[in-house]
Amino acid sequence: MATDETIFDHLKKEIPVDEESLLLKPDSSVGLVIVDVVNGFCTVGSGNMAPTKPNEQISKMVEESARLAREFCDRNWPVFAFLDSHLPDVPEIPYPPHCIIGTQEAELVPALQWLEKESCATLMRKDCINGFVGSMEKDGSNKFVDWVKEKQIEVIVVVGICTDICVFDFVATVLSARNHSVIPPLEDVIVYSRGCATYDLPLHVAKDIKGAQAHPQEMMHHVGLYMAKGRGAKVVSQISFDP
Ligand SMILES: [Zn+2]
Repeated sequence: MATDETIFDHLKKEIPVDEESLLLKPDSSVGLVIVDVVNGFCTVGSGNMAPTKPNEQISKMVEESARLAREFCDRNWPVFAFLDSHLPDVPEIPYPPHCIIGTQEAELVPALQWLEKESCATLMRKDCINGFVGSMEKDGSNKFVDWVKEKQIEVIVVVGICTDICVFDFVATVLSARNHSVIPPLEDVIVYSRGCATYDLPLHVAKDIKGAQAHPQEMMHHVGLYMAKGRGAKVVSQISFDP
């Protein structure tokens, strides 16, 4: 019988994702976008959608997101952070209640809380999966698009959770918006694979939960990267800074 590992190896062989490396130079017109690195998705025991035990992929994502945020802020480069945040009486179907405004679930993880006081950072609460849609205001403006225009950003580097859900939806929509010429001067969308993570709900667990879909972490992370690349994002596994 095939093990999970051989199935995953087979998947990677059938739908490979070639990853590049990225060198950021002092004159880069680059912005960092952090998607939902909040307690409700990342901190053990922090509600319905948080990991129930320490998770290596999520811990690494938090570490890399915080490292990049520090590097960007040290250079006074712009950082845009989405915080999934919901009103208690407005459910987000199909998910159980999570990240309710006013609770710790809807706050940045401890490793990123310092961002709240940084002038380089723009924090944006959103009540839907897709951060681009969540940035839309009632008057038709879009806070994310305005940020790109104001900071004259040509390249965004995207990190966060979940690779195949909030990160992917945002990346795919930004790429559509770029192709539709409504988000100048943005040219490139880069997904940093080690700065992304997704949740783990293996088949043997999901089958005992009514209505749950299996969501094996490594596979779905890979599929998310594959889909993002298919839509025109660049996927990188290394980011370095010059100097
Ligand atoms: Zn949500």
